[in-house]
Amino acid sequence: MNTSTDTDVLVIGAGPVGMLLAAELALAGARALVVERLAEPNPDRKARTIGPLATEALRRRGLGPEIAKFHEQGTADLRRDHGSERGHFAHIHKVDLTPTDEPDRTRALIWQPDLERVLTKHAEALGVTVRRGSTLTELHTGDDSVTALVDGSEISARYLVGCDGGRSTVRKLAGFEFPGTPPLSITRAGEVELADWTVLPPPGRLADGQLMYGGSLMGTTEYGPAVAALESKDAPLTVDELTASVRRVCGVDVTITSLRNPRRFLDHARQASTYRRGRVLLAGDAAHVHSPNGGQGLNLGLMDALNLGWKLAATVLGRAPDTLLDSYTAERHPVGEAVLNNTRAQSALLAPGPHTDALRDIMSDLMDLPSVNAYFGQLMTGLHTRYALPYPDAAHPDTGRHLADFAVDDTTLYELAGQGHPLLVHTDPAIARIAAPWASAVDVIGATTLGRDDLSAALVRPDGVLAWAALGPAEPELLRGALRCWFGPGR
Ligand SMILES: Cc1cc2nc3c(=O)[nH]c(=O)nc-3n(C[C@H](O)[C@H](O)[C@H](O)COP(=O)(O)OP(=O)(O)OC[C@H]3O[C@@H](n4cnc5c(N)ncnc54)[C@H](O)[C@@H]3O)c2cc1C
Repeated sequence: MNTSTDTDVLVIGAGPVGMLLAAELALAGARALVVERLAEPNPDRKARTIGPLATEALRRRGLGPEIAKFHEQGTADLRRDHGSERGHFAHIHKVDLTPTDEPDRTRALIWQPDLERVLTKHAEALGVTVRRGSTLTELHTGDDSVTALVDGSEISARYLVGCDGGRSTVRKLAGFEFPGTPPLSITRAGEVELADWTVLPPPGRLADGQLMYGGSLMGTTEYGPAVAALESKDAPLTVDELTASVRRVCGVDVTITSLRNPRRFLDHARQASTYRRGRVLLAGDAAHVHSPNGGQGLNLGLMDALNLGWKLAATVLGRAPDTLLDSYTAERHPVGEAVLNNTRAQSALLAPGPHTDALRDIMSDLMDLPSVNAYFGQLMTGLHTRYALPYPDAAHPDTGRHLADFAVDDTTLYELAGQGHPLLVHTDPAIARIAAPWASAVDVIGATTLGRDDLSAALVRPDGVLAWAALGPAEPELLRGALRCWFGPGR
């Protein structure tokens, strides 16, 4: 190991993805330093929902009670703003996000600034240092390390991860390609006070765009050539610009007496063609941008962090070869690509005009069919995500998927996962003998009963993915293959 580096992993950006990644690294024993441009946490209420996969991931790390504190208020806010607690596809609010066959797999409603506070506290409790008010401006990669220029001082690390959002400096400096589709629409939004709210029509899709409001948040979405003109506009959104947009969208004049956290965003859909270039990696919005429709971006980014954290820690701690990191792009890129695609479809379905109106009516009717509704539920939650595993697996339908919680004698899988260790739970003593060479890398837990009739043993990665499973006697070579792939050759 190169001992001259300042830290094992330098994380750029203390947004939710950066903080979860840093926490995962620290939990696995790697040194992580986070550098954040903002001097104070971002108060911007962007995301309000984390999907079931990210919610489960946080529950596995013991953060369930913290997150749950916000859920009731978040649900009330959602009902107020959308008139429904259902999920939506292109603002057709009919999607049941909880699968009927797995009713415990639920999302959490928590505003992004609250989530960031929870994650920051969690990471700091694990020893992560966050250097606020510090901006990365340059980076140089060598054979053994990466050197970053932060506020004029050099910081060296074995790896650097850009969690620095959609306009990622890391992505640009490290030369990642970022292909995708240009925007169809522009959204302008902010927390406002209006002299008179009653002049506004009900929120929703109108002839010339969309009007959104709820609580103190108000915004518009407009389609058309104006979008291209604004694509590179960096100046902050002003009261005049938002007022003019409201007039264009719904034909009324509003008097905005205060505007806080103004923002403008486009619905372009772009994704880094790889999430890794040597010692530099990307996660979260730095790796993929798309419209926020359906509330998927944060969930996607948190799951990137979960996937990368343990792999990167194993690499810097010398427990795994650097090639393990290639599985990060292999597993996460297709998941991001699927989200980009469904947000493109949503943008198309939100465009103004009678043709889209007709298509939306059909879509809305289709969503009343239970199987179609379930399809949209899976699409929006990603619960059906199944990674292709690079070895013959035991042919269990859940291998490669993130596992729902189940009982392991008088505890549960998620309670056992608090330390972020790989777990091999089983009811067959022969398993412990096969896995003995990996006993220092994997927690091997013998149980009398598992709360799933279709499993007698399960190898679960630190990110909650079922890496191998058996029902009945294990095939030793299949289990060894899975253990070798993720956790090295064993002793
Ligand atoms: C209106 C809206 C609603 C949304 N709703 C949802 C939702 O309901 N559910 C959902 O899942 N997603 C939603 N999203 C998406 C979600 O907000 C993003 O996906 C999420 O913020 C991504 O987190 P991140 O940590 O990757 O990036 P960010 O939150 O953007 O954090 C990046 C951090 O990096 C810092 N940084 C940038 N450059 C540098 C630099 N050079 N040096 C140091 N620091 C730097 C920034 O200051 C920032 O703190 C929504 C987005 C919007 C805009």
